[in-house]
Amino acid sequence: MSESCLRLESTYTNLPHIFFSKTSPIPVQKPEVVIFNHALAKEMGIDLSQFSEQQEAEFLAGNLIPDGCTPFAQAYAGHQFGNFTMLGDGRAIVLGEHITSSGKRFDIQYKGSGRTPYSRGGDGRAALGPMLREYLISEAMHSLGIPTTRSLAVVATGETVQRENELSGAILTRIAGSHIRVGTFEFASLHEDKTITQALLEHLIDRHFPSLKEKENQPLALLEAVIEQQADLITHWMRVGFIHGVMNTDNMALSGETIDYGPCAFMDIFAPDTVFSSIDHQGRYAYANQPYIAQWNLARLAESLLPLMDADRENAIEMAEEALNAFEDIYKSKWLSMMRSKLGLVVIRKEDEKLVTDLLDWMHQNRTDYTNTFRNLSKPELPQEAPYATESFEAWHNRWQNRLGEEEQGWDSSVTLMASVNPAVIPRNHKVEEALQAGEEGDLKLLHDLVKALENPYQEGDHLIPYQSPPEPTEKVYRTFCGT
Ligand code: AMP
Ligand code: MG
Repeated sequence: MSESCLRLESTYTNLPHIFFSKTSPIPVQKPEVVIFNHALAKEMGIDLSQFSEQQEAEFLAGNLIPDGCTPFAQAYAGHQFGNFTMLGDGRAIVLGEHITSSGKRFDIQYKGSGRTPYSRGGDGRAALGPMLREYLISEAMHSLGIPTTRSLAVVATGETVQRENELSGAILTRIAGSHIRVGTFEFASLHEDKTITQALLEHLIDRHFPSLKEKENQPLALLEAVIEQQADLITHWMRVGFIHGVMNTDNMALSGETIDYGPCAFMDIFAPDTVFSSIDHQGRYAYANQPYIAQWNLARLAESLLPLMDADRENAIEMAEEALNAFEDIYKSKWLSMMRSKLGLVVIRKEDEKLVTDLLDWMHQNRTDYTNTFRNLSKPELPQEAPYATESFEAWHNRWQNRLGEEEQGWDSSVTLMASVNPAVIPRNHKVEEALQAGEEGDLKLLHDLVKALENPYQEGDHLIPYQSPPEPTEKVYRTFCGT
């Protein structure tokens, strides 16, 4: 098979050998494409039109590897729920780095492609439901304007995987700026050989932070840049009510993309302590904890970089601490600015924070839907019933109206701003579960319809109505599963 449909390189494998293992996907019995992302393929300049349907499925399952490729699995470590573990791609293989026609570099990775040297006890495989879930949510995140890994396709393998039940197997083709994680640096720093971390640092800077090449203290500059990048990412998550669910350090990508859609979910009713993940018993990764966890993860990155920052450890610690301590203010200011735009405000006023937190408190007390409340604010008329038609809401609303009066822009501009950051539709868990369940049973209509509805999430339309309501009590999803 020729590789003319892809322009593949593999700069990652120029790193010291401990960072990867060359290994190939294990062929599957009967691959069949379940869903293919034509728009993404086009955007990436990946042209599979020369393939027959069968060849396309074989390619997307990793059964057919383009000539000249050297697929590999990546080594990494990570803190999972606070505990350090050796990990690595136990069920994923990078085919290579595809260069788009505009010169951008993206990893093409198969997830669920069979055992690798890092599989530990696992089977290296993935089930159809969770792979469709990653496809659906990652693409929805992209449409919401949030940095994320993307999904090119899901193929059913024609094989089963044994979990609690026997499930249909599948492989997801993931596209990512890279798969370098905080955990990759933790892995590097274990080797007590500075040149290993240095090599990874140079690779990462080349790939994602070229402007830092000029900096005198590159590890410190990188830490500061990643702090900024992750503060931006978490601000986006908070904006749309996204709960990642497993913010382990191996799931924090230094490309700045949201990665690893396991038990993630979107909040319906506003409640800061919302947790969905069935494995997050302590609420460590609850909605409101996400910024604190990001800072905790960034501290693990900083520790890995200490030996490169300064030969004197005390000096290095001081520099790293100063950078990490700045996270709080950096995040807070990004969050506040995001919340201002959710309220149609541009001018900065000291009292804005209280205006925002009072609204959030009101939403929490009245159990209103996070997405729809913000969207309702910019409608010509608010709903005429409780909890909107109450004194408590009217008091807040009057303050907000007065505050809008201090803006130079008019109401129409505020509405445009609000409509650009407050989604009209999100992948609500009950709709996701409903579509996945049907998909697992072979009926893909609900899934395709949901994917389509989520393509333009800021654009109101009648076709969105079935996806906008919060769940009825009987439809509520309380727990989401990793489904590994
Ligand atoms: P995750 O929770 O998806 O971030 O995965 C955590 C670690 O477990 C990673 O190193 C994965 O590669 C590995 N892993 C997850 N599922 C499997 C599986 N079925 N077989 C082998 N390794 C797995
Ligand atoms: Mg992971």
